[in-house]
Amino acid sequence: MKIILIGPPGVGKGTQAQKLQQSHGLRQISTGDLLRTAIRNRTTLGMTAERYINRGELVPDNVMLELIEETLFGENAPDAFTLDGFPRTVPQAEGLETIFTRYGARLDWVVLLEADHDLIARRLAARRTCRQCSAIYNLLTNPPHQPGRCDACGGELYQRPDDQLATIANRLRIYREQTAPLVEFYRERQLLSAVDALGTSDAVYQRIEKLIGGK
Ligand code: AMP
Repeated sequence: MKIILIGPPGVGKGTQAQKLQQSHGLRQISTGDLLRTAIRNRTTLGMTAERYINRGELVPDNVMLELIEETLFGENAPDAFTLDGFPRTVPQAEGLETIFTRYGARLDWVVLLEADHDLIARRLAARRTCRQCSAIYNLLTNPPHQPGRCDACGGELYQRPDDQLATIANRLRIYREQTAPLVEFYRERQLLSAVDALGTSDAVYQRIEKLIGGK
């Protein structure tokens, strides 16, 4: 199964992709995580990406398409996956379509996670991420057992620089301008299903399960 999750930053795409990985073995492909790893490792990709990410801007489409083709169809490529954070622009979606055609692959679902943007801004500001395993917490709705420490691996929890309030507003604006048009793109291709992203992460996951299980 090949799934794309779309939705504004902070709506819970990463959390839901982790759940799909645990229950269905779909590998979570988070372009944000791939870029943050590249930054940590000081690779050429990382150095290109860093200035965009820290400003809350999008990394250029050609860079992202190269990364995604290598990840999805290069060495150690997964058969089944959830894309979390890609595509984020119409040119990326068109490029992905071309890549899928080239490799004879087929997309099963595009799931749109919907929530009010004010609520999302509040959620994002409370998000903490594990430096070691990328597990996601929320100080309001899903705090770690021990403050500042990951329940899963004991790693240090941190606030991503782009989860600070000033950058969040910019990311939400970019979402409305550049990513929201994907809804129409995938609706036209009859691949899109919308899921209400309000409520606990388990409740949202149940809605996704119902959708993909019913195919
Ligand atoms: P995320 O972890 O998905 O919120 O991504 C963090 C940041 O990585 C974004 O704000 C962008 O700067 C960059 N990024 C991740 N995925 C993409 C993409 N598909 N296109 C462009 N930039 C991306």
